[in-house]
Amino acid sequence: MSVRIDEVSSILRQQLERYQVQIDVDNVGTVIEVADGVALVHGLGDAMAGELLQFSTGVFGIAFNLETDAVGAVILGPFSDIKSGDEVRTTGQIVEVPVGDAMLGRVVNSLGVPIDGEGSIETEESRPIEIKAPGVIYRKGVDTPLQTGLKAVDAMIPIGRGQRELIIGDRQTGKTSLVLDTIINQKDTGVICVYVAIGQKASTVAGVVDTLKRHGAMEHTIVVSATASQPAPQLYIAPYTGCALGEHFMYEQNRDVLVIYDDLTKHSWAYREMSLLMRRPPGREAYPGDIFYLHSRLLERAAKLSDDMGGGSLTALPIVETHGGDISAYIPTNLISITDGQIFLEADLFYAGVRPAIDVGRSVSRVGSAAQVPAMKRVAGRLRLDLSQYRELEAFAQFGSDLDRATQARLARGIRVTEVLKQREREPMIVEDQVLAIYLAVNGWLDTVEVEEIEDYVAEFTAHIHEDREDLLERLRDGWAISDELAADLDEAIRDFGAEVSARSSEGGPRSAS
Ligand code: ATP
Ligand code: MG
Repeated sequence: MSVRIDEVSSILRQQLERYQVQIDVDNVGTVIEVADGVALVHGLGDAMAGELLQFSTGVFGIAFNLETDAVGAVILGPFSDIKSGDEVRTTGQIVEVPVGDAMLGRVVNSLGVPIDGEGSIETEESRPIEIKAPGVIYRKGVDTPLQTGLKAVDAMIPIGRGQRELIIGDRQTGKTSLVLDTIINQKDTGVICVYVAIGQKASTVAGVVDTLKRHGAMEHTIVVSATASQPAPQLYIAPYTGCALGEHFMYEQNRDVLVIYDDLTKHSWAYREMSLLMRRPPGREAYPGDIFYLHSRLLERAAKLSDDMGGGSLTALPIVETHGGDISAYIPTNLISITDGQIFLEADLFYAGVRPAIDVGRSVSRVGSAAQVPAMKRVAGRLRLDLSQYRELEAFAQFGSDLDRATQARLARGIRVTEVLKQREREPMIVEDQVLAIYLAVNGWLDTVEVEEIEDYVAEFTAHIHEDREDLLERLRDGWAISDELAADLDEAIRDFGAEVSARSSEGGPRSAS
């Protein structure tokens, strides 16, 4: 039997028309169930994962869970007015946030809306909160240090611009303090900072903003805050928003950016809560199976871009909380494997007064040393050695057995090196001063200084060099290396300073080693 051409075309036309109808239907769905900021929507057959949805009340949501005939949506706003039977539409977009210079100095929520009471933010540009991370051909290795201003970090766990370094430790061990000092230290470096507060108390975030303001660090910083009292979806998207705000400066202005996620423990809790509400099957520690992917997607967006791409960078410092120093829990191990190293803060050290409480043995930076300034590299090698020998001997020393002279000397050195690495909060140091302090310690110049007097001694010496020997600092800065010649001149300056100090205190105050 033969079919006429026009019949075929009319059948095709009919089918195409029906297809069109099908699409329209797929754009609109109906709320079946809504609770706790999460809605189950029937229909929406063509919704994409992560797509922005709009409820008939005007509130937006995100397509979170795609099932065969329903979509689990998280609601980004007041959800008490949304009822079952309400219409929901797809928008074809993914969530975007306003970006730009106008965001600097501001505190915003997870949607980029200002919450600091300082008026609206005038900016025309916006960016999707999720993008695919740049591929390897758009990147290059880290080559510039991101100075935290903390001696212990910059010397032994150096961070390069574009790196991902995890800050890990129990509650109240100085995690936030470490990153705030790092933000403060970016003043005048041109690095833009984004601090994302996830699941913290509003008062804590206010304290952070206050600290940054007092130290003149808010001008180069954006704070994104989703507090503990907000619904889980707000906490869930906050880090993506923070990352997008930073990416604008990296991609559009070729700038260096530092983004801090404080902390991803609470981010994980928010995601788990949402997933359980969506009745996703819980996996290890009741987290959904894709939580690893969630965090790797976020941290992969940290990058040092190639020159062709403009050479900007985005450094990520995610924070994660441990319990009883256990780094083998699910989320910490995930994050350790995703990042380029970790700074481990230890509660016992913290209580013993070693602050920042960095456990050097368990902290590592896998890429940062490529970017470390040479002068620091030279003094830091010795520093690690002194510290590790000290750690080994420390246990013995506690038994109080007779120790030979060499062992006693190593212990004395270890104690002094540890002392030199202590640092008060909000006092980040320029790298020249860090090098001077460490130089004193690892070259034995502090071996005969009483431990209690070390802090003052180092401070006085540094002030003296700044006042009278600017030439030494300049030479240090010029080549960023300590040549043998410079070392000899430094030694001479230290000897002179020591002589001056002993002359001042007739009853034999701090003396320098000969
Ligand atoms: P949480 O788990 O509650 O978020 P955290 O690990 O972020 O805590 P911080 O809030 O940074 O810890 O610090 C805890 C306390 O220790 C604060 O009171 C802070 O002032 C103090 N602290 C942190 N670092 C130092 C330091 N280097 N010197 C002195 N005190 C410090
Ligand atoms: Mg904290």
